[in-house]
Amino acid sequence: MECWHCERPSHAICRFCGRAVCKTHAQEMPYIIHTYRTAKGEYKAFVVAGAVWCGECKPQQDPITLANLEN
Ligand SMILES: [Zn+2]
Ligand SMILES: [Zn+2]
Repeated sequence: MECWHCERPSHAICRFCGRAVCKTHAQEMPYIIHTYRTAKGEYKAFVVAGAVWCGECKPQQDPITLANLEN
């Protein structure tokens, strides 16, 4: 695969959208690997800091609330 930005050989894949990027164009972004709910009803997340990000896509910082899933 080639870098999304410069078309040179890529070194990594964006963790969020799957675009390929070279070392020059790879950026970093915290990546949530797992979320869970505590006994108190709080939502917690395990986050990996410095995950590869292509710089193109727009990962949302906050989880989106899904409504009407319990029909
Ligand atoms: Zn590049
Ligand atoms: Zn991306």
